[in-house]
Amino acid sequence: MNGSSIDIPDREKARVHWIYLVPILGVHCLACLAFMPALFSWSGLILALVTTHLFGMFGINICYHRLLTHRSLSMPLWLEHCCATIALCSLEDTPVRWVATHRLHHVHSDDVADPHSPNDGIFWSHAGWLFREFPNRRTLAFYDRYARDILADPYYRYLERRPMNALNVYLLQFLPFGAAGFLVGYCLEGNVSKAFMLAASWMVWGVLVRTVLVWHQTWSVNSLSHLFGYRTYATGENSRNNWLVALIAAGEGWHNNHHHDPVSASVQHRWWEFDLTYYCICSLSWLGLASDIVLPRHIRKAHDRTVPRTVAEIMAVDDSLSRGHVSG
Ligand SMILES: [Zn+2]
Ligand SMILES: [Zn+2]
Repeated sequence: MNGSSIDIPDREKARVHWIYLVPILGVHCLACLAFMPALFSWSGLILALVTTHLFGMFGINICYHRLLTHRSLSMPLWLEHCCATIALCSLEDTPVRWVATHRLHHVHSDDVADPHSPNDGIFWSHAGWLFREFPNRRTLAFYDRYARDILADPYYRYLERRPMNALNVYLLQFLPFGAAGFLVGYCLEGNVSKAFMLAASWMVWGVLVRTVLVWHQTWSVNSLSHLFGYRTYATGENSRNNWLVALIAAGEGWHNNHHHDPVSASVQHRWWEFDLTYYCICSLSWLGLASDIVLPRHIRKAHDRTVPRTVAEIMAVDDSLSRGHVSG
């Protein structure tokens, strides 16, 4: 697909995107509080590692990426919204903006309109692209083109109309983390000041450190998985299968497999390409909490199942549905 005027970035007009730069730098700086001995706790460290996987996998991998962007599965709406709220707790943009940006990446992978191609430098692809504001990617026309189905949901539309609420969700999560730390600390130590210190430790490790780790997980897929690793498929861009990114991002590093078959709920094409996120989706299905799971292309072909196979096709189907050209 050729880039249209709303896809192509106008780099001449790109200004510093303070609304992203300040929180991202701020959270990185505050997360350094974890190096203070008084704020270290083994329970905080374990909390950070566990929540990094949980928030990254349910919020970003399953909800934002495989469900909302690629429609690889369905969930009950209440659970989908819960997972989207978990994604907001990772401060990775609203659902509409995340989905629109990621679909733009798939449609224009590694060409001039790709929002985060390493062709523009590894730092740019990792995080630098977030610090530049491209007005043509903050318009209703852009969201309408790339995320019309997401905008149709009242909850996601509400978040888009009041983006400060996304920030409020992020800030509110300090309360349960702090309260849980205080309760556990008080039960174990019977001492209010020690309970406060554990509460502070859990807020630093469970929220701030975890946010930084989830960010770099996601960003590594955009940067490292388009630079380093092997290619199983000639996909027409530079996506790679990167075992390190797959390990830290619960399967998302098998990125060449993903670009080959974006709609599949699984990116595991060989036995060693372990996709933890897919097994989590299978567990949800076993519990009756996930359905319409799209299997890999070779299995779909064997069963003669047809589903939209590219982001452009998903957008085209959505477009024709919303205009009433297709029924059922
Ligand atoms: Zn990619
Ligand atoms: Zn994708």
